[in-house]
Amino acid sequence: MDSFHSISEESNMIVTVRVRPLNTLECTRGNVTNVVHVHGPNELTVQSGSSADASAGVTHFFSYDQVYFSCDPERKNYADQQAVFAGTAQPLIDTAFDGYNACLFAYGQTGSGKSYSMMGIEALDDAALDGNAPHAEAGIIPRFCHELFRRIDAVKDQLQVVEVEVSYFEIYNEKIHDLLSVQHALTSAQDTPQQRQALKVREHPIFGPYVVDLSAHSVDSYSALRNWLAVGNSQRATASTAMNDKSSRSHSIFNIVLNLTDLSSDDGMSSDTDSGTVTLRQTRRSKISLVDLAGSERISVSGSNGERIREGVSINKSLLTLGKVIAALADTRKAGGSATPSTFVPYRESVLTWLLRENLGGNSKTVMLATISPASLHADETLATLRYACKAR
Ligand code: ADP
Repeated sequence: MDSFHSISEESNMIVTVRVRPLNTLECTRGNVTNVVHVHGPNELTVQSGSSADASAGVTHFFSYDQVYFSCDPERKNYADQQAVFAGTAQPLIDTAFDGYNACLFAYGQTGSGKSYSMMGIEALDDAALDGNAPHAEAGIIPRFCHELFRRIDAVKDQLQVVEVEVSYFEIYNEKIHDLLSVQHALTSAQDTPQQRQALKVREHPIFGPYVVDLSAHSVDSYSALRNWLAVGNSQRATASTAMNDKSSRSHSIFNIVLNLTDLSSDDGMSSDTDSGTVTLRQTRRSKISLVDLAGSERISVSGSNGERIREGVSINKSLLTLGKVIAALADTRKAGGSATPSTFVPYRESVLTWLLRENLGGNSKTVMLATISPASLHADETLATLRYACKAR
């Protein structure tokens, strides 16, 4: 018996899937097989059910905007970190330069490759913080930052002023913690999330929801930006160690705000900075959110303590709400952009979606990167991730 799942043609949200390789442990376990097979650039199948099982031999077909395969033995469709960046995040740099918001999020079970895709291995490599091009194993975020400054340097000749500001925070149990707070780094790096001060969300009349007292840092080069990224990653890792690998149970959000000002002469035809005839024109602001979501696996309630159950409930709530928001936006787009009661978008049902509101709706571009394992023992979670990704369109 076969089943078919496909994304709708009408949507303009980009949904991509990345399949990681089997890991050493999976390869050495005799009973683990590869159940994910990629057929061309945007289709894959998953084989579910073991031979002892009633659903043995079910093949599930899925299609998306792009499928990235990192475990092709013949390397025909092999996608490395650069290929994934080029197909997902790189186009968002144009979106940001056009003055629109953008969002890229990685969704998948713990261990499926979200952090590898978003941050990569460079995150822990201090030697890479020298301002040079990202390491081959660097993920989407460092590559995006590097490419952004390459583009900024290129447009300087067109007399465009670009100011860049970054912030980085995590959401754990619906509470927000700043990952770039210098004060926090100096005084209380060992604190557990319960001890750290949680920040609140408010609405700005023009820019929408924002985190009160979240630190924002101006950066003027890739290396300055990478330094802040390293600060945030180390704060995240410290808090995670203090809380028994909490990072898989929290969402991390790296925000980049661009303020672009075009410069031109009074007549708008030419410009001459030396003669002082240049005037400031048009200012555009855009925000790009790069999000590494909490693991999407269902948390078993049996044997879990109260804290774990609370975590599970808040992760489910935000991922479910994210799914609902994206589905409602897809409905709105299909209805020609008009919001009707049936397309109510429930942003406020979770902190994550409330904060991403300006990056998900309207003219903003959203890219979903669903990460999956090819191993038979994860087939159920893989199918759940792939179905979630289908609903996003
Ligand atoms: P997650 O963030 O989803 O919990 P990770 O990104 O930490 O998962 O990935 C789990 C492990 O698998 C890490 O050791 C990571 O280096 C490795 N890995 C994930 N994706 C890939 C990939 N595409 N190619 C090579 N190794 C990968």
